[in-house]
This record gives sequence, structure tokens and C-alpha cells, in this order.
Amino acid sequence: MSPIVKLTNVSKSFGALQVLDGISFDVQPGSVVALIGRSGSGKSTALRCMNGLETIDSGEIDICSHRLGTRLEKRLLRELHLDVGMVFQSYNLFPHLTVGQNVMLAPRWVKRSAKGEARDRAMEVLSRVGLAEKFHSYPEQLSGGQQQRVAIARSLAMQPKVMLFDEVTSALDPELTGEVLRVMENLAREGMTMVLVTHEMSFARRVADTVIFMHKGRIHEQGPGAMLEAPSTPELAQFVGNGL
Ligand code: ADP
Ligand code: MG
Repeated sequence: MSPIVKLTNVSKSFGALQVLDGISFDVQPGSVVALIGRSGSGKSTALRCMNGLETIDSGEIDICSHRLGTRLEKRLLRELHLDVGMVFQSYNLFPHLTVGQNVMLAPRWVKRSAKGEARDRAMEVLSRVGLAEKFHSYPEQLSGGQQQRVAIARSLAMQPKVMLFDEVTSALDPELTGEVLRVMENLAREGMTMVLVTHEMSFARRVADTVIFMHKGRIHEQGPGAMLEAPSTPELAQFVGNGL
């Protein structure tokens, strides 16, 4: 099978700071890749480049048949965002809109879906995250974990081919992270292609097909989840040992 995402020798600096230093990896359709590593190792930047939120300095990113080079045309970004969904640590739902309205917004205004169709799809994706009964609630009436699940549903409503998750549980109280991780695990089981940045090592070990340990802007170690139990480098051993 050919990869649905392919990074080839991607480098990126912010001023004098090199954040990505020749990153290459593939993501197969239907697989889950977890990016782990210390704060500042370039994980978020890698995801942001894959979603066209940052341009790269050199190398290539092929994602869902879009080629992202060192320049990103508006039209390319528009097409890219139809195929690639991203969920962040901060869920940023619109507080004055109901859950249903939040989820229907992009299908209505970006995809120009008819209202009935958008509503049906919103119901369907909210069911997938276990929140169909919150359709008419407002975000403030929901827990943080529920709001993050709505944010995932909002992204799913656009029917992306690839989902990117950047530390989506990091802002949540520990008792709320489980429900969000379970939603992501179900998505993985349903065959969604996912690239996620996470500090949840047991989740990465269990759910990811491939774990990529980033260190100083490079891929320091890469392998199946089991790699976390038997690191080959002292840096990964130390990282895993610290739990963070
Ligand atoms: P991680 O997600 O692994 O914690 P990031 O990719 O967010 O790491 O950041 C890597 C490095 O790049 C950090 O030192 C961060 O401060 C820096 N950085 C990230 N984004 C920017 C930016 N827009 N401008 C300048 N520096 C940035
Ligand atoms: Mg980050």
C-alpha cells in the first residue's frame, strides 16, 4: 500500500532555531502514528506543517495527494483542509452556538452542505463521540472532556481522510482524559488514519502502530509501540522513565 502521508527530509527553522532537522516518515492508510518527545522537540511544528499552518524550509510533505512544498497557495490550503482535520489542546468551540451548530458550521459554510444533510451528519458524528444527546446544549454546559469530544466531532463532520491530534488531553483533568482517549481509540479501530502528539505513553503503546520519538528536531527512534518498553537509546529510556 502506498502511504497516505509522506514526509521527506523536512526541515524548518524559526529564525536561528532549527526546529525540524530532516524529518522523514510515512503514514499508511488506516494506521496510527504517535509523535512523542520532550517539550520543544518539534512535535507540534511537524503537525502544523502537515496541515499547512506552517511552511517548511526544505523537503516535501505529501498528504492525501497534496504536495506541500516551501510555498502554500491559498487554493491548495483550501483543498488540503477538506482532507485533513486537526484537533488542538484548546477546543475553542463557539460559546454562543449550540453543540449541534458548532458541528454544522464548517459543513454548512465550507462544504456548502444543505442544512438537513449537515444536521444529519452532525448527529451521526456526535453519536460517534457519545454526545448525541448534547446536540442542543451550549459548550459551557459541558465538561472539558465533553467539549473536546465535540471538537473531535466538529472535525469529523468534514469527513477528513487524515486526522491530526495535538495533545488533545493535556488541558484536561486526569479523570476526563480517559473518555477522550477512548473516542480516539474507537476512531483508530474504525480505520481512521491518525497522527497524534501525546504524553499518554500507555495510550501510545496500545493504540499506535508506529511511535516516533523526536529529539532536538530529529527522529531519534522509531518503531512499534513495544519500543517504549525496550528503548534502544538512552534519550528515549530517560524520556519514558520520567513518564514525560
Ligand atoms: P513541541 O510541540 O515538541 O513541544 P514545538 O514544535 O511546539 O515543540 O516547538 C519547537 C520549538 O520551536 C520550540 O523551541 C518553540 O519555542 C519553537 N517555536 C514553535 N513555534 C514557533 C514560532 N511560531 N516562532 C518561533 N519559535 C517557535
Ligand atoms: Mg507541542
